[in-house]
Amino acid sequence: MTSSNHTFNKKTLQRLLIKRFGMAVATYLTTSTIVLVAYWCDLFSAPGGAVMLLLAATVFSQLAFLGVFASGRNLTFDDPSLTKAQVLVALALTTALVAMLDQARGSLLVLYPMSMLFGLFQLRTWVFFRCACLAFVGFLAVNLYEIQAGITRDLGLALLQICVLGLVLAWLNLFAWYMQQMRQRMRKRRFALQAHQETLRGMMRQLEDMVATDELTGLCNRRHFLRMAAQALESLTPTRQHGLALIDLDYFKSINDRYGHAAGDRVLQAFASVASGCLRDGDMIARYGGEEFVLLIPDTEAEAFQACCERLRVAFSECKPVNVKVSNLSLSVGMTLVTLHDNLDEALHRADQALYHAKRSGRNCCAATWDLVDA
Ligand code: GH3
Ligand code: MG
Ligand code: MG
Repeated sequence: MTSSNHTFNKKTLQRLLIKRFGMAVATYLTTSTIVLVAYWCDLFSAPGGAVMLLLAATVFSQLAFLGVFASGRNLTFDDPSLTKAQVLVALALTTALVAMLDQARGSLLVLYPMSMLFGLFQLRTWVFFRCACLAFVGFLAVNLYEIQAGITRDLGLALLQICVLGLVLAWLNLFAWYMQQMRQRMRKRRFALQAHQETLRGMMRQLEDMVATDELTGLCNRRHFLRMAAQALESLTPTRQHGLALIDLDYFKSINDRYGHAAGDRVLQAFASVASGCLRDGDMIARYGGEEFVLLIPDTEAEAFQACCERLRVAFSECKPVNVKVSNLSLSVGMTLVTLHDNLDEALHRADQALYHAKRSGRNCCAATWDLVDA
């Protein structure tokens, strides 16, 4: 479960990273094309060598990111350090690009919000804000340097560009903050839903237990037994056989009549605890109805099965039900063996016939169908 989850997460993560890397490459390629077009149109104030250096830096940064992805390090989606690095590199390259541009600078200011958008979903609000500040300070520094060096020809235009960038970045920050809030709210809701789901699952389990259990004795009820027994019969092979027994408490009506119905209930509970103590884990015992019980012992031989039923009979005759001074407790058992291609109803009918025989033989004994056939 854990390992398949792990594989799934890693696969999903790799897909996400490839997507993210693909997006970054596409954006950088488009930007590089724009830079080249701008260069050919003579819109750069910088020399050609600087522009080529910028393109080389773009390619190198992408190769570096590819190296990180390929090495498999930082493969945790919650770790935003890679995104932060990606955004910072993109901002640095954008600042270098706009610093080289002259008239086209205003148009390419759009690259700042584009670079910031990479971190919109992954970066925490505070980190996003710092990246935005860095972008703004970078652009401001370029402009201040140009103003101070007397390179800027149009001061009004420069101021307008600074204000517009500041406004866009401020709005982006507000939007990022809103998105983070939304995500946190969604996460909380998801946790609440998961908790509800767990509660419902627990209730379902409780219901299933209730449906399968006899309330008085805590044993399986008839419906559940029949379902389990049918499954057990399906597992039969030519060399395997199961033991099936019907158990009926003797003279139970007179216990009720003499000691009261509540005392009768306690005798039934005493039988349940004796049976649970006598049987092994894989054995199935259920309350078949009234003071009748059914037992299925998988993978058994006639002798071992008979010994087990005898053990149960003796243990019950020696048991002391809580708060009831009843003596001479006994039970009768009808046993049969279930083999491959056997029918559960027929097997139960055979066990019932054996039980009838045990009752007729004086009760407090075990009767087996194979003995009846031999007789
Ligand atoms: P036999 O030896 O032939 O089996 O006689 P018996 O008295 O045990 O059998 P009978 O079928 O005549 O009576 C069964 C009684 O079990 C009748 C019914 O009132 C009682 N009984 C059935 N279910 C319960 C129960 O849940 N609690 C109690 N106290 N008695 C129950
Ligand atoms: Mg009875
Ligand atoms: Mg009965």
